[in-house]
Amino acid sequence: MTDHILSVRDLKKHFVIGHEGTVNRKPITVKAVDGISFNLHAGETFGLVGESGSGKSTVAYITVGMYQPTEGAIYFRDQDLFADSKGRPLALKKEIQIVFQDPGSSLNPRRSIKQILELPLRIHQPDKDRLTEVLRLLEMVDLPPDYMHKYPQSLSGGEKQIVAIARALATDPSLVILDEPTSALDVSVQGKVINLLIRLQREFNLTFLFITHDLSLMRNVASRVAIMYLGKICEVAEAAEFFQNPQHPYTQMLLSSIPVVSEEEEAAKPEKIISTGEIPSPVNIPQGCSFHTRCPYAMDICKRVDPVMVETGAGHVARCHLFEQPEENLTQVLEAEPGPIPQSP
Ligand code: SF4
Repeated sequence: MTDHILSVRDLKKHFVIGHEGTVNRKPITVKAVDGISFNLHAGETFGLVGESGSGKSTVAYITVGMYQPTEGAIYFRDQDLFADSKGRPLALKKEIQIVFQDPGSSLNPRRSIKQILELPLRIHQPDKDRLTEVLRLLEMVDLPPDYMHKYPQSLSGGEKQIVAIARALATDPSLVILDEPTSALDVSVQGKVINLLIRLQREFNLTFLFITHDLSLMRNVASRVAIMYLGKICEVAEAAEFFQNPQHPYTQMLLSSIPVVSEEEEAAKPEKIISTGEIPSPVNIPQGCSFHTRCPYAMDICKRVDPVMVETGAGHVARCHLFEQPEENLTQVLEAEPGPIPQSP
């Protein structure tokens, strides 16, 4: 038994989106998630960060049971989430809940807030008094009791998302997946929702899988951060280490362009790294390291061989040839490329 609440093992999700030609009809496949592994520790916030199309939301949808994986497995407290081909047992469903990006489309406009909050209670907490529970949930998220009579269209965007958070907590889950929970909200209410999530996490010992494209948000929210690029994880580290000592060229590229608010953060920011190419199509992911078409440090081996994840420090891993054979590859970088050199482990 480990302290891992969730363990993702070599997870793949490939979508066939069409077929080429008219004779042999070769399938056209999008490898949305292509062999990722990570663990979530109980009570932490794990930030899964990536650009649009990186596959991060697909990971969320598989974890919550909306998609079946193509390959690989996910274990929740050592229980295989996909072991039962007839579907996930209710006892497991209640443990993992999700808050979607757009509360406007995730709340049924024809149901009152009371009805919205009652639905998961009917399924997962049938023995509890529903009115008492609805009032408890509203209090938990700092909404007045009379909000139970309102409908989603009469709420602001922030209030809708707060109701969505209350609905996610109705089943008394251990793990909540937050899929870009603030990116559809006004900047003025984003902080309020984040502070609410932090408080709820502390009070109810929740574990968060926080999916986002906003790396700067993770600086103050995440315990650990993982970066995804075209269906694969490039780097994972503790948040402090991640922001002070980024290893992967893609991470360095992302961090070099995010705004900072203190001199300390400015000092830790990598030198500006300019992407050398276009973002590849997910339908046509480059051979070898999928980042090689944009990487200023790309070597010959990067075009041919997909790198493996290697440890570059305590709890810090990166998937890049620079760290598999640092001396040899660093020499190639020095010969081939001007500009900043990624720090070797
Ligand atoms: Fe760049 Fe090569 Fe590392 Fe990929 S493996 S990130 S192309 S140096």
